[in-house]
Amino acid sequence: MAELVYDKTGRLLFTKEMKKEYTILVPQMLPDHFAMLVRIIQNEGYKVEMLGNTGKPVIDAGQKYVHNDACYPAVLVIGQLINAVQSGKYDPHKVALVITQTGGGCRASNYIHMLRKALEKAGLSYVPVISINLSGLEHNPGFQLTLGILRKAVFAILYGDLIMNVGNQVRPYEVNPGETDRVAAECVDFLLEGMAQGKGLSYKSMVKNFDRIIDRFKAIPVTGEEKVRVGVVGEIYVKYAPLGNNNLNEFLLSEGAEPVVPGLLDFVLFKIYNRDVDVDLYGGKWIKQAVCRFLLRYMKRYQHALIDALKRSDRFRAPGDFDELHSYIKGYLGDGNKMGEGWLLTAEMLELIHTGVPNIVCTQPFGCLPNHIVGKGMIRKLKDDYPWSNIVAIDYDPGATKINQENRIKLMLANARGLAKEHAAQEAESQQAREAEPAAV
Ligand code: SF4
Repeated sequence: MAELVYDKTGRLLFTKEMKKEYTILVPQMLPDHFAMLVRIIQNEGYKVEMLGNTGKPVIDAGQKYVHNDACYPAVLVIGQLINAVQSGKYDPHKVALVITQTGGGCRASNYIHMLRKALEKAGLSYVPVISINLSGLEHNPGFQLTLGILRKAVFAILYGDLIMNVGNQVRPYEVNPGETDRVAAECVDFLLEGMAQGKGLSYKSMVKNFDRIIDRFKAIPVTGEEKVRVGVVGEIYVKYAPLGNNNLNEFLLSEGAEPVVPGLLDFVLFKIYNRDVDVDLYGGKWIKQAVCRFLLRYMKRYQHALIDALKRSDRFRAPGDFDELHSYIKGYLGDGNKMGEGWLLTAEMLELIHTGVPNIVCTQPFGCLPNHIVGKGMIRKLKDDYPWSNIVAIDYDPGATKINQENRIKLMLANARGLAKEHAAQEAESQQAREAEPAAV
C-alpha cells in the first residue's frame, strides 16, 4: 500500500505509487466534455472516474462540510466529492480527488483549501487532493499535466463544444424522442475509441471528425416547427452543470424552448487572453505575453475550423469567434474586468442579443460577487440599449426552490412569446406597407 508522503508545507502529495493503486475522482461539470477529458487522462495510465452522484445528498454533504458563506459551486463540487468518498462505492484509502485552481483572484483558486478542510472535518485527511492548474500553483510527483495531455484536452473541448452546439439545435425538434442523445453518445464513443488509438488528435483528423459529427446530427429527422430560443449564460459551473442549475437545459426543453449555450472554448481563450492583458495592465515578463499570444493564435485557428465546419453544414448556426465576442464589450466593460467570467459574461449576452437570441437566462450562484457585477449588474444597461432584450437573472443556492426558479423562467418565456408575436405583427405591417407602395416606374 502506498505510503502517505507530505511536502515541506505539510501538504499530502499524490505519489507515483498512488498512480498505480488509487482511483482519481473528478467532479462533473459538462458531461460530454468531461467524459473525453477523463478518457484522455486514463490513456496516460491513470485510473480516473467522473462522478455522477447528484441530488440532495450531495448538497447536504456540501452544506455540512463547507462554510455557508462560500459560493454555491464550491458547496456542490466539494459536496459531490465528499459524498462519493463516503458512499461506500470506493475504498477511501485508495482514492484521490481532483479540483481545479484557476490561479486568478477569484475564490476558485481556493476551493482546494476548502476541500482539504472539509476532508479533515469528515475524518478523511488521508485522501490526497490533486490540483489542476496552469499557473504552477501545486505539483504532485504522481500526476503531471503534460503538454501531450493539454493538447488532447483542447481537442476534447472542441469536440465537446461541437456536440453541445449541434445537439442543442436538433434536440428540441427531433421527431423520435431521445435520438439526439443517442447520436451524441455515439459520437462521444467513436471519438473516445479513436483517441484511445491516438486518432482524431491532429488538426486534419479533427476537421474530418467535425464533418462526421455534423453529418450524424444532420441526419436526425426534425419537425419544421419554430421554437423560442433561449440563451444560457452565467458563472461557469452553474451555467453548464446540471447539478448546479437544476437541469436547466431539460427544463427549457420541456417548456418548448431551444437552449443556446455558448461553448467552453471561449472561456479557455478568455483565461489565456487575461494573462496576456495582465502584462499590459500591470506589467510582467514579455516572454509570458509572447507565450500567451502564441497559444491564443494556435487555439483560435482551431476555433475557426469549428466555425467553418458549422457554416459548411448549411444547416446549423455558427457562433462568432473570440475576437468578435470581445468586440461586443467595447463601451461596456474594460479588459480589467476579469474575475469570475469577467467581461466574457456580458459579451456572451451581447452576442446572443445581436444574433437573434434576446431571451436569456443569466445563472447566478449564491456568493458569486464577480458574476453579479458582470451578469446581473449589466442587465439594466443592456435593457436600456436593447429594449427588446428579455433577460432574467436566476439565483442558485441550497435554499432556492426549484419551483421558484422555474416560475421566473416561465415568466421570461411568456414575455419572449409576447415579444415574438409583437415582432411578427410589426413585420407583417411593414410588409403590407411595402406591398401597398406604388411600384417604381
Ligand atoms: S466565479 Fe463566483 S462562483 Fe466561481 S469561484 Fe468565483 S466567486 Fe465563486
